[in-house]
Amino acid sequence: MTFFICTTCAVQFDDRDRPPESCPVCSDPRQYVPAAGQRWTTLEEIRRDHTTEVAPQGDLIGIGPRGGPGIGQRALLVPWGETNLLWDCVALLDEQTAVEIERRGGLGGIAISHPHFYSTMVEWAHRFDCPIHLPRTDAEWIMRPDPAIRLWDGDRLDLGHGVSLHRLGGHFPGSSVLVQEHGSDGRGTLLSGDLPLPAQDRRWVSFMWSYPNMIPLPDHEVRRIADVLAEISFETLHSAFWGDPVTDASEVVARSARRYCAALERVGAG
Ligand SMILES: [Zn+2]
Ligand SMILES: [Zn+2]
Repeated sequence: MTFFICTTCAVQFDDRDRPPESCPVCSDPRQYVPAAGQRWTTLEEIRRDHTTEVAPQGDLIGIGPRGGPGIGQRALLVPWGETNLLWDCVALLDEQTAVEIERRGGLGGIAISHPHFYSTMVEWAHRFDCPIHLPRTDAEWIMRPDPAIRLWDGDRLDLGHGVSLHRLGGHFPGSSVLVQEHGSDGRGTLLSGDLPLPAQDRRWVSFMWSYPNMIPLPDHEVRRIADVLAEISFETLHSAFWGDPVTDASEVVARSARRYCAALERVGAG
């Protein structure tokens, strides 16, 4: 029996003797199946062919594989009481990385912004004997069910130690952000996954329903998401990808939402 991993989205499936017929995550219009067709790998193969980069991202620690399956995301290690939370997830969990995380206080829990980053979350949960917090609204996208998965309801989950999850919806019904109240010298840090996603110059963000297929969200959804984020105080925004964070991020999100809605109005889509 094998826990197959989709090479494109890096989501791991429950154990079976042959690969799944297709990957529901990649067959969905918010992802894609490569022109060359669906391919599968395993965690053992990824461990053999790739290594992990662990590097500072602002006042947090980024963890991501060098190459390999997935959308190119990296996870973030968020201080949480005596231990850490892992925000978002990557497929490659190797022993060296696990030891590095243990040296920094281990993992007390895992939270993930949306199904594109579920990857090998269950492997991480087993390694660190910790729960995975996922919104119940996205439960259909769990390809490897496990008792470590705890489904949360509603629009907000308080995890304690100044860390909370907020459901924004939009990209997926359960798309969520993590807020670290004590981050950025007490001015607050927002971890967004891919919604909102920083633009190249870090002075703007955008809001998409499908990134690979470039399908935007309707303006009323972007207004609603901006209204939710306006109630939260944060100075810095990190997405799920390596790079500089957005600073003055509350203001950047608010003005980006206004620019986005004005642009849709101009093309008559608003
Ligand atoms: Zn996939
Ligand atoms: Zn996504």
